[in-house]
Amino acid sequence: MTDSIRFTLPAAEMPDQWYNLAADFPEPMPPPLHPGTREPVTLADMSAIFPENLIEQEMCADRHIAIPEPVREIYALWRPTPLLRAVRLEKALNTPAHIYYKYEGVSPAGSHKPNSAVPQAYYNQQAGVKRLATETGAGQWGASLAMACQLFGLECVVYMVRVSFEQKPYRKLLMQTWGATVHPSPSPATTYGRKVLEADPDCSGSLGIAISEAIEDTVNTPHTKYALGSVLNHVCLHQTVIGQETIKQMELAGEEPDVVIGCVGGGSNFAGMAFPFIGRNLREGKKCRMVAVEPDACPTLTKGDLKYDFGDTAETTPLLMMYSLGHNFMPPSIHSGGLRYHGMAPMISHACKLGLMEAVSYPQREIFESAVLFARTEGLVPAPEPSHAIRAVVEEAVKARETGEKKVILFNLCGHGMLDLAAYDVYLSGKME
Ligand SMILES: *Cc1c(COP(=O)(O)O)cnc(C)c1O
Repeated sequence: MTDSIRFTLPAAEMPDQWYNLAADFPEPMPPPLHPGTREPVTLADMSAIFPENLIEQEMCADRHIAIPEPVREIYALWRPTPLLRAVRLEKALNTPAHIYYKYEGVSPAGSHKPNSAVPQAYYNQQAGVKRLATETGAGQWGASLAMACQLFGLECVVYMVRVSFEQKPYRKLLMQTWGATVHPSPSPATTYGRKVLEADPDCSGSLGIAISEAIEDTVNTPHTKYALGSVLNHVCLHQTVIGQETIKQMELAGEEPDVVIGCVGGGSNFAGMAFPFIGRNLREGKKCRMVAVEPDACPTLTKGDLKYDFGDTAETTPLLMMYSLGHNFMPPSIHSGGLRYHGMAPMISHACKLGLMEAVSYPQREIFESAVLFARTEGLVPAPEPSHAIRAVVEEAVKARETGEKKVILFNLCGHGMLDLAAYDVYLSGKME
């Protein structure tokens, strides 16, 4: 064996701080607005649904925030995660490029989501909260929060987008195994859910609707707060353990990435990988490209408008300055449930607007073609969401073959696809649109 392909960090090298890109933005982000007054939201406005310690983190501009010890103790169950070089994929593509991937599928829930679920459950428990309500698309976030709530002794109720509830029964079972109550959304459990069902009894649901239901549940139930799995600043912040570890692992590999690639739904896994690299670009003048990849069917960054919009369908959240397809956008039922969101993290939106990153989109069948190529060369079966990133990696690697450029490509393999095999079935049997 000549080259190493696996770069692991010792446990002691797990980050003890989260990195906040807000401290390095060349221009400050536009604040979230109260939908009634159109004034910047205050801590008091948000305290109906979030605990104060997380609201403070949401508004914090410090570059580094210490990771509490009880959170690090749980992170240690799967962190630091491995960085691998995809030499067999490189060979299959006959490319001079070097391809690296950070693998977040080793967490108990199989994705990056526990990186934020664990601190969110911890801060809520510290604030005396007894029960968390949330929404979930593909079920990755609901499963992660169910696990985190269990570890910190909180109850968990999840509103799961109906199309995923039906397509992905195993994620629902995972949530129930971790003790959560799961409702298909739209559900008869909330006034808003009943209203949507009345208008369309077959409604397949959306994250926007599920968020509205979870917020309604929160404000109507004592000792309950709401948790969001993506989009918000504190979620992007928690995910930065990914990129911080990767910077150290690329040093072990003795290379610098020329391009960093990730898929974007609400933006958290991409933020987690890319923000520490964007921070280095800004502070040290490095020139690493950042590419976010989204589905053609939900093209928030590539086709959406940058504007103040609601995070949910019922217009209950603060107005966020973000790229959006409109809060009433009903995404088609594609198999990447985690990428079916009308909006985008305000931090990602701001980075895009400032030209600190780029975005591309691909159709579903090309995504699965690349996913199968990856599984057949590297062994791991990727989730449909990060298969968007793999599609862009393949394109970069093929370009490198044509130009002979020895570029270094890095991507975030943010989850495995072992619970998404029904989607592979549709693709492999030739039935995918
Ligand atoms: C939730 C999820 C996504 C999309 O959410 P982001 O906040 O954009 O990361 C992507 N991939 C996986 C595996 C997910 O679970």
